[in-house]
Amino acid sequence: MNPPCASTTRHDHSSGDPRPVVSDSCLEGEARDLRQHLGEDSVVKFREPLGPKTTLKVGGAADLYVIPGCLEDLTKTLQWALTSSKEVHFLGRGSNVLVPDEGVRGVVVSLSSQAFLRLEVQDHHLCAGVGVRLKQISEKARQHGLSGLEFLEGIPGCVGGALRMNAGAMGKWTFDALVSMTVMDRSGNLSTLKSEAIETTYRSCPMLSEHIAIEATFEALPASEGQVRAIMDVFATQRRGSQPIGASAGCTFKNPDTCPAGKLIEELGLKGQRHGQAMVSDVHGNFIVNLGGATAAEVLSLIDLIQKRAREERGLELEVEVQILGQ
Ligand SMILES: Cc1cc2nc3c(=O)[nH]c(=O)nc-3n(C[C@H](O)[C@H](O)[C@H](O)COP(=O)(O)OP(=O)(O)OC[C@H]3O[C@@H](n4cnc5c(N)ncnc54)[C@H](O)[C@@H]3O)c2cc1C
Repeated sequence: MNPPCASTTRHDHSSGDPRPVVSDSCLEGEARDLRQHLGEDSVVKFREPLGPKTTLKVGGAADLYVIPGCLEDLTKTLQWALTSSKEVHFLGRGSNVLVPDEGVRGVVVSLSSQAFLRLEVQDHHLCAGVGVRLKQISEKARQHGLSGLEFLEGIPGCVGGALRMNAGAMGKWTFDALVSMTVMDRSGNLSTLKSEAIETTYRSCPMLSEHIAIEATFEALPASEGQVRAIMDVFATQRRGSQPIGASAGCTFKNPDTCPAGKLIEELGLKGQRHGQAMVSDVHGNFIVNLGGATAAEVLSLIDLIQKRAREERGLELEVEVQILGQ
């Protein structure tokens, strides 16, 4: 039974978010209650700061933060959230998300425990849990003389985030290499889908806005380790020369059909534009970097400015690629 919290909530009018902000004591009680449903390997925290868990390093805390120790505890967390009327949000390695300054209401789940880190090679297939880092996959493929996954080398996410975002680089997308994906629905039911049965678009796998990615199988082709290493080296060099090294969430906007967003932003003269400690990178116009101590509000106001200028001066609607966690 969840502790009653209605009398101890308030509303955060400053952020414009109409959802109630729950008091610390209430959240502590909810965390205790949820913990009782889960095994010892699971972690449950309340008011957990999320900024440090993202590459952009901005934003507030999660009301509740859970690292399920096993698949069963993920199911129990979803069921607990359902009966408690809590929203559940998923965080991978936080390399394509913006956490609002007011934090995230409900439960933020990280599938980063050992249960989600399986990485196995069978013939020319790699089977990976959603917590596995993309770099580990390309490295593992290289060690086994398998080519086709080199493009994942420099993308700083994990499998779950790459599937949700259909992450891509160097002309290849995650779903190009995918054979099948196991997903869980919000009631805890598992299913495995073949790649060709899954709808994907540029930087999105829409079904994963509702379902949770659990595991993926990728296909690669035999090659010599040296060949694979050479391709990875070329990709790494290209990346180093074209991306800023500061804290960022990668590309802020999806590329419009007519021209790359970075080029457009550069042409609008917005490279180097600052709002507080957030700045449009002077290396790549589509990256917003945190110079140290930036707020989510500063990043969001730069996003607004860029969209406004693109609309007014080029008639283009720039669509945000970065996911605003909890919205
Ligand atoms: C320096 C830098 C370079 C980058 N370069 C590239 C690039 O070349 N190409 C590219 O495509 N991207 C790039 N990115 C963006 C980012 O790395 C990718 O989108 C990556 O795939 C996100 O993975 P993540 O684990 O960090 O996901 P997160 O950022 O944590 O999450 C992204 C989204 O996935 C959802 N999600 C996470 N796990 C799951 C799950 N198990 N089930 C369902 N949904 C889930 C989250 O809720 C969120 O909506 C770059 C980012 C940075 C900072």
